[in-house]
Amino acid sequence: MQKGRVIQSTGSWYLIDTGEKVVESRLPGRFRLENKQVTNPIAVGDLVDIVINDDASGSIEKIHPRENYITRQATHSKKGEQILVSNLDQACVVQSIKKPRVKEGFIDRFLVTCEAYEVKPVIIINKMDLAKSGGKAFAEELRELYTELGYEFLTTSIQDEESLKKLKELLKEVTSAFIGPSGVGKTSLINAIDPSFDLKVNEVSDFSNKGKHTTTFARLIPLSFGGYIADTPGIREFGLVNIQPWELSLFFPEMLEPRQHCQFSNCTHAHEPKCGVAEAFERGEIAASRYQSYLNMLDSL
Ligand code: GDP
Ligand code: ZN
Repeated sequence: MQKGRVIQSTGSWYLIDTGEKVVESRLPGRFRLENKQVTNPIAVGDLVDIVINDDASGSIEKIHPRENYITRQATHSKKGEQILVSNLDQACVVQSIKKPRVKEGFIDRFLVTCEAYEVKPVIIINKMDLAKSGGKAFAEELRELYTELGYEFLTTSIQDEESLKKLKELLKEVTSAFIGPSGVGKTSLINAIDPSFDLKVNEVSDFSNKGKHTTTFARLIPLSFGGYIADTPGIREFGLVNIQPWELSLFFPEMLEPRQHCQFSNCTHAHEPKCGVAEAFERGEIAASRYQSYLNMLDSL
């Protein structure tokens, strides 16, 4: 028996990375019977035990419990949901200081999603080389805001070796997802810290011998210095989770204390009288951008 991690799934075949090699494996039919409510009982990211067959293929014998997982759309009902990836150590939201400019709303929505999925979030602001003094000051304001809230925050540029070193440290030996709109530099950053990254992608595709087809499935791409990047269709949207309006403030750390002073226990902190959150905002204890993000998200629920 060997332990490994599912790095790619086609629904019938799984690529399992044991650390020494990648084994093309199947899931015995009994697992599907036991898990009737889910279309695919195995997700990319899962830790599994496999036995190696005579033909060098693997059979999955055991699925270890998941630390966390993200779905196409998070719901409280676990029925019929589709898991995009499991056992993520962290999710990194990538924004750029310019071209395109940082959208705080995107960051805040991402943070709520991470809180709901119980995945550690990291905020990365890229293209700092394009920032003039105003942009640099803005990045520092963001750093202060988010680090004070307890979130990890990193500024980067593909031209700044020092920042790339920090990024590499962050990604080393853990499983990360990169979330962000196109053009902010997600691909450039990963390629800058791991030049063999793209090559590896091809190796995995060749191995599974299923051509271009495989790229539409979820996968974990190994980093040359240890660790994986999750590459999952649908992961980039990282949409708002399915939560009740009165629950939303539970996912804003700075609202946890103030919301205890609201007159109504189901207060949404939008228009109700005697609202502890609105009062904290007026006292300057909640950042305007954060309160605005909260109200926008509330509107979209
Ligand atoms: P992705 O869509 O998020 O993967 O973004 P890409 O990695 O494709 O990058 C989009 C564009 O931004 C490309 O033209 C990159 O060369 C450029 N870019 C990425 N990172 C940086 C950076 O740190 N500084 C500057 N000036 N340009 C960057
Ligand atoms: Zn309130």
